Amino acid sequence: MSNHFPVDRALFDDVMVPNYAPSSVIPVRGQGSRVWDQQDREFIDFAGGIAVNCLGHCHPALVSALKEQGEKIWHLSNVMTNEPALRLAKKLVDRTFAEKVYFANSGAESNEAALKLARRWALDVHGEDKTQIIAFKQGFHGRTFFTVTVGGQAAYSDGFGPKPGDVVHAEYNNLESVKALISDKTCAIVMEPLQGEGGIVSPTKEFVEGVRELCDQHNALLVFDEVQTGVGRTGELYAYMGLGVTPDIMTTAKALGGGFPIGAMLTTTEIAKHLKIGTHGSTYGGNPLACAVGEAAFDVVSDPEVLAGVSKKAQLYIDGLNAINEKYKVFSEIRGKGLLIGAVLTQDYQGKAKDFLNAAMAEGVMTLVAGANIVRFAPSLVIPDEDIAEGMARFEKAVAKLAQA
Ligand SMILES: *Cc1c(COP(=O)(O)O)cnc(C)c1O
Repeated sequence: MSNHFPVDRALFDDVMVPNYAPSSVIPVRGQGSRVWDQQDREFIDFAGGIAVNCLGHCHPALVSALKEQGEKIWHLSNVMTNEPALRLAKKLVDRTFAEKVYFANSGAESNEAALKLARRWALDVHGEDKTQIIAFKQGFHGRTFFTVTVGGQAAYSDGFGPKPGDVVHAEYNNLESVKALISDKTCAIVMEPLQGEGGIVSPTKEFVEGVRELCDQHNALLVFDEVQTGVGRTGELYAYMGLGVTPDIMTTAKALGGGFPIGAMLTTTEIAKHLKIGTHGSTYGGNPLACAVGEAAFDVVSDPEVLAGVSKKAQLYIDGLNAINEKYKVFSEIRGKGLLIGAVLTQDYQGKAKDFLNAAMAEGVMTLVAGANIVRFAPSLVIPDEDIAEGMARFEKAVAKLAQA
């Protein structure tokens, strides 16, 4: 087959399913927090592949883990276990509340495993009436049919026929709304320990502690979806560690592979035993290549110096955004935790987050949105301070243009 056809943005519309609307920019290489496109234009990366590239692009530790494992063995299936998976699982267990790990390939798959485990645990331990899952409005847990149904935006789960049943939604940071729904028929409460996609919303202390208590009172499991918050993003290795509330099941993905697809569900031995042989599985889950890269990423991020650097770098973002805001008055609030930051647009700019993203891209800095009213930043945890300064200068140019318009 000939390779003589233009590989450009127009080809996307020709050959790809139209569920995404990608930018016209097609990046071809990256180094640290800088990325270059087909025309060799340089961008500063404040997006981190949506909180995935925790160590930027082509971090030497990850490249070398990938190369080394790539020359040993790529795949075995779960008919056999493998060294990288065992090593990564051991490290996850050593550094968290968990005693057992199940590997998947994405956040949604990790959550799918968590939900199935919670349902099976409830059936085994408490009988067939304990099936209710309480989740939260504006929550996000992935796009498989079960996880998107548990997610708190009906628009994402509508239109695909009958949904998995007995899933209800309370209001985040509203304990009364949880009390109104919970009963002894509740099997699990599923929540993000900081809502990411839903708008960078931190839980209050009373709320998250109250949810834990309600779970205990009603023999329900508390499931923390740390797909976005995990692996150093908030400055803690996992966000739960900063909340003083420990879940029964936790999921982690995105930054776990630093750019290589992997996810995991973590839990206690007592709960894990309900996923007996044959109850669940994944062909690629625990793949040696993915786990080797994941192990390298986890080693670097769990270094206390790297974790301590997160809050220092976060302060540079907050200071930079506040300085921009003093001049242009575009944000009503800068919020988030660690390097998961949301700049909330004022009334005058409602619905325009995507315009900020596009304007920033035109000035050479990649950002994200969280809904229509929030510009989100989720850069590398080791982004050089110079890159923050340069990216912020470019972002300011974009804001200046929008504020004039
Ligand atoms: C991104 C995300 C997911 C989904 O992860 P995928 O890898 O896209 O399946 C689930 N939960 C949260 C909190 C996320 O941010």
